[in-house]
Amino acid sequence: MLDINNIRSQFPILTTQVYGRPLVYLDNAATTQKPRCVVEAEREQYYTANANVHRGVHYLSQQATELLEQARQRVGRFINSPSEQEIIFTRGTTEAVNLVAASYGELLHEGDEVIISEMEHHSNIVPWQLLQERRGVRLRVIPFSDDGELDLQAYASLFSDRTRMVSITHVSNVLGTVNPVREMISLAHSHGVPVMVDAAQSVPHFGVDVQELDCDFLAFSGHKVYGPTGIGVLYGRRSLLEQMPPYQGGGEMISTVSFDKTTFEGIPYKFEAGTPNYVAAHALAVALDFVEGIGLDAIHAYECQLTAYATEQLSRIPGLRIFGRSVQKDAVVSFLVGDIHHLDMGTLLDRLGIAVRTGHHCAQPVMTHYGVEGMVRASFSFYNTEAEVDALADGIRRVSKMLLK
Ligand code: PMP
Repeated sequence: MLDINNIRSQFPILTTQVYGRPLVYLDNAATTQKPRCVVEAEREQYYTANANVHRGVHYLSQQATELLEQARQRVGRFINSPSEQEIIFTRGTTEAVNLVAASYGELLHEGDEVIISEMEHHSNIVPWQLLQERRGVRLRVIPFSDDGELDLQAYASLFSDRTRMVSITHVSNVLGTVNPVREMISLAHSHGVPVMVDAAQSVPHFGVDVQELDCDFLAFSGHKVYGPTGIGVLYGRRSLLEQMPPYQGGGEMISTVSFDKTTFEGIPYKFEAGTPNYVAAHALAVALDFVEGIGLDAIHAYECQLTAYATEQLSRIPGLRIFGRSVQKDAVVSFLVGDIHHLDMGTLLDRLGIAVRTGHHCAQPVMTHYGVEGMVRASFSFYNTEAEVDALADGIRRVSKMLLK
């Protein structure tokens, strides 16, 4: 059992009043709020251990470098990476996917194929489309059913002797579907194809183990797992990272530079050009400590219970349609009520202090699948409560009464 009151007391922003009402923050899939320890870790470092990393012989630089490298180890332990050299700090999931598409993409040729799915976030579509433009790589797309489950038969049939990569989301940010990535990876490997997992919506909610999944790349964002913005993680399998060319050029990533020939650092530094966001990396490590302190199993159990409760409460509302009814589902409920525009619903809920996301959720192909322009999405964290879900359900009822003809 989680002590929700104690947990909530560690998130100062949760006491905010919105239009005179208590904030009900249900936009956690977009970003999570920060516990005091994370904010303080950043402040503390700027006050006591701030200097550029990897460059100085001086005391502060060594302190900052040590915190950065400890953070890399902390992240590595969090996702059970075989080594910390396989952990690359990026700006977020988006940059991690772009890194792989750009760098691994350099090894691909015209006519090679990359498999993605219909339920990807734009950040796992557009980087591959850019590669399509640059190198003539072809995209193959796994469809999903109306319940929000990937069609695994179609997936199996998409492999050809030109398939070079599979890049799929672990959990859909719209439908909440938890995809069977382990089985999907195993199938890809039987064809000799590496797999990238977008773990932006899984790492905050349940334990993710890169060795157990046997994935080749995995990406997540610090800000969705209670860490700061501007920091994310790419895990990459050593044997692949070593073959891949650098993503960006600059300081930190080189071994020697001359006008005749420049040589590069080994992994992970080869992929970390320029001054990294070392302060955010340290604060991310503190966030991961915080999350593990609560316990991912407890978090998962609580959030599943809350999602089931929300599904039940919202299903009772006349005219409300939930998108995403997969058996394995996590922490997200997307919906529409009758013909009420998602933006009207979101705006009026906001007036009641309830923060939900509206729009296409950076997953327009999912909207196209259901023939809608946008949806309203409530997404949960372990600091949310059943009382907040009740407030959401009451709010939706009030808005519906006002707007439904
Ligand atoms: N993938 C998924 C599944 C997401 O939900 C998000 C964020 N909404 C991203 C990728 C992109 O994350 P970021 O904007 O932090 O790079």
